[in-house]
Amino acid sequence: MILEPEVETRPWEEQQELDDSAYREQLAYLMERSAFYREKLGIASAADAGGLAGIARLPLTEKAELKATASADNPIGTHLCVDRAEIARIYSTSGTTGTPSYIPLTAGDLDNWITGSARSYAASGVERGQRIVSTYNAGPFAAGAALASFDRIGLSHVPVGTGNTERLLRAIELLRPEAAVLTPSYAAYLAEQADLRDSSVKRVLVAGEPGGGEPAFRAALEQGWGARVTEAMGIGDIGVSLWGECEEQDGMHLGARGYVYPEVIDPATGDPETVDPGTGGPVTGELVLTHLRHRAAPLLRFRTRDHVQVRTSPCPCGRTGPRVRCIGRTDDMLIVRGVNVFPSAVREVVSGFAPDVSGHVLVRPKQPGVKQEPPLPVSVELARDRTADPALADAISSRLRDALIVQTEIELVPFGALKRSEYKSKLVAQAKVEG
Ligand SMILES: [Zn+2]
Repeated sequence: MILEPEVETRPWEEQQELDDSAYREQLAYLMERSAFYREKLGIASAADAGGLAGIARLPLTEKAELKATASADNPIGTHLCVDRAEIARIYSTSGTTGTPSYIPLTAGDLDNWITGSARSYAASGVERGQRIVSTYNAGPFAAGAALASFDRIGLSHVPVGTGNTERLLRAIELLRPEAAVLTPSYAAYLAEQADLRDSSVKRVLVAGEPGGGEPAFRAALEQGWGARVTEAMGIGDIGVSLWGECEEQDGMHLGARGYVYPEVIDPATGDPETVDPGTGGPVTGELVLTHLRHRAAPLLRFRTRDHVQVRTSPCPCGRTGPRVRCIGRTDDMLIVRGVNVFPSAVREVVSGFAPDVSGHVLVRPKQPGVKQEPPLPVSVELARDRTADPALADAISSRLRDALIVQTEIELVPFGALKRSEYKSKLVAQAKVEG
């Protein structure tokens, strides 16, 4: 089902024109209201920056820069553009250290978030009148707005929260929902804990971490659940579930089209990666997002740290515009003798060895930091009742070398040896610091 057909199937060129004028207005708004961008952009007026065609000439925004401007007087930061009374909601990001980053929204911003998120989730095929069970403990986090999008679609929503497997399985058994929304890690965990193949759940919507779109990993989830698996993705600083996959399962559509403008850059140089319209991609790089109609604290060219692959071929569902698949978080990336390696990509290659393996992996870097010397140690968990076979380890290592151009040292570990997660998986072990 397409929630808003006239918007979502609009020719992409037409969307770009609308986005261009929204962007010009957004820039003028930033120059008028955002102390952060007035200082950062170093232009006399918004007109000097031109339209979207010139956006790549403007500087990128890093999360740390925004945070550095927060103060006791202004704990949100100098990118805040509205008065206190205009703020309808303040989310925060989990933040690994100390104080969280705050994400303010006006009532209009929040409504736009929910609209984009509803389009993204509706793309999965869930429909008005169906029942969905959700497993997010949204709490202070932006995911709460995603839950509101289920109301917008007209779903009957059963929240059960995270980490209560008993409650979830009981809800599925008794309330017979057609859909479930959870992290790919939790979906994988549940498929191991219970036989869900004959449950009422026919659509599993995964979000919150990369992996749901990886073919081998997805195939294992679909088999375990007896359901179709589609993924969605957002980023708290910009918006929840901005992207959502349709039933074609070939990358996520931009549900937040018109509210957000996407770019892809080379994470090392910051240069734009352009999509070849002739071949239709795939181009890969870091996703950069710009608000187009935001009011409370709009961001320009925000680095998401999500590494994506872009697809521009037409989608049979009729939605227009580029689609993305998330390959991994730039923050999780390792560089092994000059080659970028995403742990989720390692898991994807290893998952192709099912039914010999369980699909759980743990990359164990030898040195702290991003740069690693080969071979890269990887623990691969065997499937239930399988025993370690050196030939299997060799085959995995050889396929990883072919697919990812990385030399690995595979350790096969028994089923259950690697820690499961009821939220997000940790695919990389911390390297021990020497001394
Ligand atoms: Zn589609």
